[in-house]
Amino acid sequence: MIKLHDKVFKPYLKEEEILAAVKRIASEITADYKDDTPIFVGVLNGAFMFVSDFLKAYQHPCQVSFVRLSSYQGLTSTGIVETLLDVPEDIEGRSVIILEDVIDTGRTLKKLVHLFSQTNAKEFKIASLFYKSDIYNGEYTIDYVGMEIPDTFIVGYGLDYKELGRNLREVYQLNQTTMINLVLFGKPGAGKGTQADVLKEKYNLKHISTGDVFRYNIKNGTELGKLAKSFMDRGDLVPDEVTIDMLKEEVEKNPDAAGFIFDGFPRTTAQAEALDNFLGSKDMEINATIALEADDNILVARLLERGKLSGRTDDQDEGKIRNRFDEYNQKTAPLKAYYEKQGKFHSVNGIGEISEISERLGAVVDTL
Ligand code: AMP
Repeated sequence: MIKLHDKVFKPYLKEEEILAAVKRIASEITADYKDDTPIFVGVLNGAFMFVSDFLKAYQHPCQVSFVRLSSYQGLTSTGIVETLLDVPEDIEGRSVIILEDVIDTGRTLKKLVHLFSQTNAKEFKIASLFYKSDIYNGEYTIDYVGMEIPDTFIVGYGLDYKELGRNLREVYQLNQTTMINLVLFGKPGAGKGTQADVLKEKYNLKHISTGDVFRYNIKNGTELGKLAKSFMDRGDLVPDEVTIDMLKEEVEKNPDAAGFIFDGFPRTTAQAEALDNFLGSKDMEINATIALEADDNILVARLLERGKLSGRTDDQDEGKIRNRFDEYNQKTAPLKAYYEKQGKFHSVNGIGEISEISERLGAVVDTL
């Protein structure tokens, strides 16, 4: 076990395993590019060790360059990806292969694809040493993968926790001993999804959004999707039995989770009771329910804006939005009293910068 700042990490991947994965990628790329002179572009800072060992294993003509993007602060993915060091010059007509240390949600990758799609490189490939396939939601397929890993926070071999740990030769995983289960509470548009993304990285939790699960099922034309669609289209709640069963299934898919963030669930007293019973049967419990508070008019404006970007039909019509607020006021708002009675209800101001709101939420979770 090692300690970096305030967190404890346990050994996860040995140096030999990592180097074997690097060599595997190098031999695959050798087979494809040995007759070309590709430009390898390392993504700083995390990929520096990978690039170094990769180049030792790739003994054919090639060029090396680096880009620098930034999206992480501590354990938290801020969601904002900045370009700090730009694409190399002279890439016209060349084969470019990006060397990434880890691909998780795909946000950084999206920015990279965008950066390179504006150049006149001949082709553009991605090699990533580690790949969190469970949470990757990008469209680009990763061309070369060293190792698929689960969605846990790792450090070492170039990867850091708040800038420490990059010099470790092995990879370590965050050691979380106590489970944290949170309910994010708030009206549509309050920022539950955005904040869940931040919290899940920071506390190594699994995020379950019932709305997202329904949308996924609708997109894939499943029976569940067909059933939920008419309710969702009107801005009504999907019946409890359907939603509760689905939620249980999502929890059971993740037996090793260090905790869950329930986003958009529970929305009725029956759901809250079912959740308590279900968690109780697994020796688990809700530790806190955190409400993101915001004024209705601000929420309507946010949702209409989101609807333009996401294409979500329930976000494009003020009538449907107001209906969702009515559903919330009638069926979900009473849950405040339900959780207050258990001493678990916390309220947070949901207006402000995303990072400010994350800090307010973090302050609550850190007291648990
Ligand atoms: P959301 O993405 O959380 O705003 O959810 C979008 C829609 O999915 C809601 O308006 C409901 O129709 C449905 N939905 C999501 N979660 C639940 C739930 N816990 N209970 C019932 N319906 C839900």
